[in-house]
Amino acid sequence: MSVDDRVRGEFPLLSRMLNGERLVFLDSASTTPKPRVVIDAVRDYYERVTANVHRGVHALGEEATDLYEAARLEVASLINASPSEIVFVRGTTEAINLVAHGMGLGPEDEVVFPESEHHANWLPWRVRARPVPVPIDADGLPQWDRFESLLGPRTKLVAVGHVSNVTGAIAPLARIVELAKKKGVPVLVDAAQSISHLPIDVRALGIDFLAASSHKAFGPSGVGFLWAKRELLDRLALYQVGGGMVSLNEELDGRFVPRDAPFRFEAGTPAIEATIGMGAAIRFLRSIGLGAVREHDEQLGAYMLDRLRKVSGVRVLADGLPMTERIALATIVVDAPGMTQENIARALSDTFGVCVSGGFHCAHVLHARAKLDGTVRASPHVFNGEQDVDRLVDGLTQIVG
Ligand code: PMP
Repeated sequence: MSVDDRVRGEFPLLSRMLNGERLVFLDSASTTPKPRVVIDAVRDYYERVTANVHRGVHALGEEATDLYEAARLEVASLINASPSEIVFVRGTTEAINLVAHGMGLGPEDEVVFPESEHHANWLPWRVRARPVPVPIDADGLPQWDRFESLLGPRTKLVAVGHVSNVTGAIAPLARIVELAKKKGVPVLVDAAQSISHLPIDVRALGIDFLAASSHKAFGPSGVGFLWAKRELLDRLALYQVGGGMVSLNEELDGRFVPRDAPFRFEAGTPAIEATIGMGAAIRFLRSIGLGAVREHDEQLGAYMLDRLRKVSGVRVLADGLPMTERIALATIVVDAPGMTQENIARALSDTFGVCVSGGFHCAHVLHARAKLDGTVRASPHVFNGEQDVDRLVDGLTQIVG
């Protein structure tokens, strides 16, 4: 039995009908459906526990804290880190903003990142530092041969998406880290798109920061994490303060003593149930195995690209990139007179029950450089099979026709 046949039944959403058709969900790069074990973990917290963490002295408070901290262990072991280096945040966006603020960057400090990045890994550098983008080609792929020349005496950070949310391209992290380290520059990796597709070992990669969201990896939205090397975490400035992050606040002179990392960054009541759900999502992902996910990705990705490139009126972005350098994600430009790319995504859902993304995917610069007025993105995951790709291709063929 193939892995998608094995896991499909775990996702209640996938048995839903959409406009008379069985739902075909091909939008995991936007957010993934949730397996039953994640839904159950969240429900169980509400029905059996419901207490604040790191505060309650009663039994329920202790149980909530144990479940919450177990999720930190799950995240840490997924990426080969220490739990004390995992800060829970709202998601990738907040994790990157935390670093951008915490490093105390100024307008003369340069941050080097590909022009193709998602706004979450673009705007924080634009607002807080001097952005130095790595140019991209007409397909949205970074010209990595120009990367080294962009590193200079003012470079404070290299920030790179592990996997592009538009092209699905896997960044050559080993080479990027090697060149950055030669200049003593730390590397931040945006793992929003890779966390549920590729094995990640932060120590083996030699990186300094990693940001990811739970909701793109089968978990609830509203939570994600920042991993940072302990010595860097200890140096990051606090970007918010409040309850739960302070160990002493008795003086009236404005001084207080924050707790040690990671708790010093977790002010206020966190997204407790979502965090517990994220722990369950990681257990689910590891029960499938990232090796099996990758194998499935390579097979289904190759099938999808092959079928899409045969549809007349459809152009696949970064078509020449081999499957070994991308995940199963295809962004296409559909030539259907009188229809925008958003119209096409809408028609796929309304007429064919196929959910994909349409528009700019929070990557306006990439679309501007590639001179594209929007694109349609199909992003399958481990629960999708060839029959789902067939439905997408049938729909597109009819729309174009
Ligand atoms: N980076 C990339 C590559 C993404 O695809 C996304 C989500 N589309 C983000 C960052 C932002 O993630 P979030 O909205 O969960 O903070």
